[in-house]
Amino acid sequence: LIQLYMPLNILGFAYREIKQGLTDMEEMFRLMRQPREVEDAPGAPALRPGPGELVFEDVRFGYRPDREILKGVSFRVPPGRTLAIVGPTGAGKSTISRLLFRFYDVTDGAVLVDGQDVRDVTQSSLRSAIGVVPQDTVLFNDTIRYNIAYGRPGATDEEVVAAAKLAQVHDFVERLPDGYRTMVGERGLKLSGGEKQRVAIARTILKDPRILVLDEATSALDTRTEQEIQAALNRVSANRTTLVIAHRLSTVVDADEIIVLQDGTVVERGNHGALIGQGGLYAGMWQRQAQAVAAAEAAAAAQAAA
Ligand code: ADP
Repeated sequence: LIQLYMPLNILGFAYREIKQGLTDMEEMFRLMRQPREVEDAPGAPALRPGPGELVFEDVRFGYRPDREILKGVSFRVPPGRTLAIVGPTGAGKSTISRLLFRFYDVTDGAVLVDGQDVRDVTQSSLRSAIGVVPQDTVLFNDTIRYNIAYGRPGATDEEVVAAAKLAQVHDFVERLPDGYRTMVGERGLKLSGGEKQRVAIARTILKDPRILVLDEATSALDTRTEQEIQAALNRVSANRTTLVIAHRLSTVVDADEIIVLQDGTVVERGNHGALIGQGGLYAGMWQRQAQAVAAAEAAAAAQAAA
């Protein structure tokens, strides 16, 4: 019996160790779900500090040579401003964020951060200048504190707590039996989607990146959770250059500029009011989403009354 159990135990142990290591890599490559295939230019310098201006200059890109996904996309996000990208599934929204991180190189045009072509700087310096709040955060099998402090290794307890407060997750953590020492992740306490997202926001606040990418959740959170998360996101994106990959429209209303992407081309651009006024694609998407929300609310109200 012992002979039979031993290898299984060793396998289980090895599996867990590997799994923890993989979680780190998953976090890094999550956005693109692809192996790293771009190399730093020989002797490339680190990205120079700057206020966080982001420019896409007539960017063309395809994952394969025979299928162009972005067909000449241009936009500029001034330091501290917010640009939201909306459009149907498959339009190329997430591809834009992958190019910003330089997970792939553009086929034509350029991606510039503070005037520097992302191809001319080290990928590590580029990625440390950009923070992401992803759709579904992978938590490490470790304490809540570790999961937040991951944004800035060496952060003090005060800094971790301050970030958690801004992200509106501090009160929740304080109520846990072991507070910030509570183990989370697959083998610890399971957090809800909204709680995980607020941990990710706290992590990003600590990282303090000059550019922020919000990859908005496709899954519907309940209205209250959504409002709480929105409040936390507003704090982290205030005065920070922000790119919102919007899958729902409720969060783009306040963006300084919205671009509507369809089939790899920018078909409309402007702020919410201007786009509604145009009565085009955005206005139509908005109307359909407002109707869907109203229908869902009416159904919930009917259920509550019954
Ligand atoms: P969106 O975020 O707007 O839904 P994406 O940027 O994810 O769109 O995808 C745009 C297009 O690129 C889609 O047609 C998608 O199938 C394709 N695509 C995305 N990732 C890859 C990939 N790794 N390899 C090949 N095609 C891809």
